[in-house]
Amino acid sequence: MTLAGLICFMLRHVYDLLRFEYMKKILVTGAAGFLGVHVCRRLLADGHEVIGVDNFFTGKRRNLDDLLSNPRFSIINHDVTKPLEIVADYIMNLACPASPIWYQSAPIETIKTSFLGTLNLLELAKKTGARFLQASTSEVYGSPLEHPQREEYWGNVNPIGIRACYDEGKRAAESLCFDFFRVYGTYIKVIRIFNTYGPYMSIDDGRVVSTFVTQALANQPITMFGSGLQTRSFCFVDDLVEGIMRVLWSGDEITGPLNIGNPHEVTLLELAEKIIHLTGSKSEIIFKPLPHDDPPQRCPDITKMRTLFSWNPTCDLTRGLQKTIEYFLQEQANANSVYGVENKLLKQGIL
Ligand code: NAD
Repeated sequence: MTLAGLICFMLRHVYDLLRFEYMKKILVTGAAGFLGVHVCRRLLADGHEVIGVDNFFTGKRRNLDDLLSNPRFSIINHDVTKPLEIVADYIMNLACPASPIWYQSAPIETIKTSFLGTLNLLELAKKTGARFLQASTSEVYGSPLEHPQREEYWGNVNPIGIRACYDEGKRAAESLCFDFFRVYGTYIKVIRIFNTYGPYMSIDDGRVVSTFVTQALANQPITMFGSGLQTRSFCFVDDLVEGIMRVLWSGDEITGPLNIGNPHEVTLLELAEKIIHLTGSKSEIIFKPLPHDDPPQRCPDITKMRTLFSWNPTCDLTRGLQKTIEYFLQEQANANSVYGVENKLLKQGIL
């Protein structure tokens, strides 16, 4: 071997060693869902190995189509309410239906997913020494009496209402995380995600952004529950994923809980008007009674994410909505294509 050849060989060896040291194996539950797909994509882009787990309750296999050709990605069809045996460096628990229409259609499965799913995954983390990140939610604050919501606020949740399967399930899951941390020293991180939107949301998930965009694109009336003066703050998914990554890779002393969301508040009327404008829609807004336990105001205090990680959302609502509308238009085009027809036939059991 020449000297140049030898140097190349050694450099290659050092590179492989460094890459091996850096590359982590990460188990992502809820991988086929809206946020799961973005998280898996980002981890793969950063060079890691990803094992996705999903029971496809709300997630779509189609969301993962282009990831399946990546040798560093695999997906396992599994319900997290049942124990699983996978060795990974990190476990990110995102499995849980997040949209009210879906979790209210399966309340018992939802609370089981939050509680038993988190318990099974924490047991796995304890056994294997994996680091554990729990996707919690702003819903743990319920109908908040403090505004904006800081992590120290304990919330105001109706424990027997129609949202309780989700809210209380997530609260119990947080409590499990901190008990595993205190009792077994399991490395945990809890993030509280506020309203997030963007490409890969399901058109029919009943969340406010997807519903308004779908109605506007079809020039149908936009359904406003309540006066429309209730406020929400919407975080574009790329900003959220960046925040999650900063927490994931932080030191073991950081357990959270940490709010991740966009503190810019808008009324739902403003949101509807913006969507009508951006889609060039002829939709009118119609008003319906407010559902039970719908919080009048929700806005994160993100001081902790700012100070610990210099994290700030950077995508403004107009730009984020434009990207979301482009995705919804693409989805509609796919649904009308041969691919869409095949999908419908598959669903009807004809293909
Ligand atoms: P989603 O419904 O799109 O995705 C959830 C995924 O979990 C789906 O793929 C679903 O099939 C899977 N799943 C559900 N039950 C399961 C089970 N028992 N076993 C295995 N897989 C299961 O929701 P999302 O918006 O991607 O939310 C992901 C996580 O983030 C959830 O835990 C949710 O509570 C949390 N979160 C999301 C938001 C948001 O705005 N999107 C806000 C707060 C918290």
